[in-house]
Amino acid sequence: MSSLAARTEALRDAAGVVAAPSAVVRTPAPRTGAGQGSRCMVLNASYEYLSITRDWFDSLLLVLDDKAVAIEHYPEVVRSQYHTFQVPAVVVMRYQVQVKKRSKLFQLPTKKAVFIRDNFECQYCGTRLTMGSGTRDHVVPRAQGGIDTLANVVASCKPCNGRKADRTPEQAGMPLAVRPRPLTDEEKIRCVLKTCRAKERQTWLCCLKRLGITLWAS
Ligand SMILES: [Zn+2]
Repeated sequence: MSSLAARTEALRDAAGVVAAPSAVVRTPAPRTGAGQGSRCMVLNASYEYLSITRDWFDSLLLVLDDKAVAIEHYPEVVRSQYHTFQVPAVVVMRYQVQVKKRSKLFQLPTKKAVFIRDNFECQYCGTRLTMGSGTRDHVVPRAQGGIDTLANVVASCKPCNGRKADRTPEQAGMPLAVRPRPLTDEEKIRCVLKTCRAKERQTWLCCLKRLGITLWAS
């Protein structure tokens, strides 16, 4: 068996894929269980955001296959019969992965991005919003040449959006609570997660801050 095959085998062993239960001590649980709470942020070789792995198993495989280098770990380890692995929290690819249209990922004023940035509050009246009850409002209306960017789109309740119509906040006499701005790193992370997990987010943010990494230039 090659060394790579041996390591992969050891990893599968750690994940409980082939090993007898008595041979494996797992912290955290295997991929079908609580181990999914240790997902890993994958950065491209350029240190720009690439993806988030489903769980620790995928990130550890990237490292063991020499495709990526771990630059941050969780406190947890996974153990097989003969090996102990630190669980990666952030890895950097050893080669640049080509992805299409990635440059727009954190610049598009999607409803999710705008609502997360605006804390799910109408920027005109402060009403709490849900993805279903709220809408996006162009500060300078499209009818007046306003563009579809994060700097020109805010979260709004439907009544405010209807009342403002094709007018600017000044024309409508409806001042904005906060001027629209680009997303922070934390907001970018929340945008790419289906659910927010405090442990992952804090570990990732700490690593990004320590290394001065910007997920993607705004
Ligand atoms: Zn409102």
